[in-house]
Amino acid sequence: MVDWGKNNGFTLTSLFAGDKFARMKKNYTANNLSITLDMAGSFVYTKISYPVRYGVFNEIRTPDQLLHFNLNGEIIRAVGRTRQWIHPNEWLKRTPGNDWVYYSNGGYTGVFEAMGEYYLPNLQYPTNALIGGKPFRETCVSDLVEDWYQRLMALQTSTKNLPEPMARFLAQALQNTPDRLQEKAKKLFSISGGRVTVMPPDARHVDYDIIPLFISLGCLYKCRFCRVKTEHPFALNTEDEIVGQLTRLKALYGRDLANYNSLFLGEHDALAAGRNLIVFAVEKALEILAFDQGNMKGSNLFLFGSVDSLLDTDPDLFNRLNTLVSKTYINIGLESADQATLDHLGKPITVAQVIQAFDTMQKINDQYQNIEITANFVMDETLPKDHVPAFLRLVRERVSHTKPKGAIYLSPLSINHPSREMMFTFNRLKCLSRLPTFLYIIQRL
Ligand code: SF4
Repeated sequence: MVDWGKNNGFTLTSLFAGDKFARMKKNYTANNLSITLDMAGSFVYTKISYPVRYGVFNEIRTPDQLLHFNLNGEIIRAVGRTRQWIHPNEWLKRTPGNDWVYYSNGGYTGVFEAMGEYYLPNLQYPTNALIGGKPFRETCVSDLVEDWYQRLMALQTSTKNLPEPMARFLAQALQNTPDRLQEKAKKLFSISGGRVTVMPPDARHVDYDIIPLFISLGCLYKCRFCRVKTEHPFALNTEDEIVGQLTRLKALYGRDLANYNSLFLGEHDALAAGRNLIVFAVEKALEILAFDQGNMKGSNLFLFGSVDSLLDTDPDLFNRLNTLVSKTYINIGLESADQATLDHLGKPITVAQVIQAFDTMQKINDQYQNIEITANFVMDETLPKDHVPAFLRLVRERVSHTKPKGAIYLSPLSINHPSREMMFTFNRLKCLSRLPTFLYIIQRL
């Protein structure tokens, strides 16, 4: 039994003194238990080979586990601290959609080259990952996912005379039961009218911490091969609906909104919503969600586009986005530069359009410092034979020199089919491409 009244160490530590984000963290330590409130992680998204935590959060540390909670007292991260845990640098993250994702380092072999990130998200649901293990089959991982709440209850039972801020935090964390977290995820989906079934690959730059705002529904093409398409025809949301979503998102994210600086405009082709609605939505989001008053520095915007929506875009949209947010990422589904492959996929566009869209991407990426247009291509052993040569004609022959911007994502078509041969093909294409080239793992919010 831990007696906080007698034995706690109480410290107030000023973090980032002089910084506008300066805040006081409160730490209480007794015996084998440590609770830290308002712990500050990094306020800038970064790529580094050790685990980085972002924003401000609360931590409970015992000899067996490390649990992190957001500013609403909702669990967001868990790490085992026993010898059974797979690797001390790996962790579980709980998403706003209430999925647990296991971040592994893949032995540091090839994860960064393949993903552009040092840690690989391993998902509990079927996806198209070519690399990664089966961490959820490890007892230490599945137990933590299943038991974290019971462990939290046991912790409360075994402590007494907890200082008031800690008691308040623990009570709040216990109110956020697994059922309640699931309900909250459902509320999030209902705000937009549906779940984000696929996040843009570029969301990796902010560890997938994106707030979803649907300005449109569906997409233009309904390609035969696509597993994430919706049945309803492409449609726009009204300005009133957009403001309504933002107001409800602000209430739902609550205090933890301070840890977000990135917006995802849904659904599958927000670029087709056109300049006026996109600018309206971004301006309203910046006003209502107030990223500039949060912990994370800068602001980011993510959206999907299509060949037609990119080619039809009013160029003034790029002028506006270039200054409205710190960084905009628009991900375009090109899929293939070979007509036989496009037909095989049931994608109703021509190679000529794909090439034109690719050239437009290069121009925008060269012209606008704060905008990056990226593109997806499919990968599969069963595609027509000219798919790969046509891909290389674009990303090698059509680009005069190596560029650091305008990422190309290769998306395996097969689900739950890790393949060494496909990894070999990917590595070969990556070496030949003059644009940064990565794998795209389909991941939901
Ligand atoms: S690939 Fe894109 S455009 Fe095609 S059906 Fe899927 S979401 Fe729609």
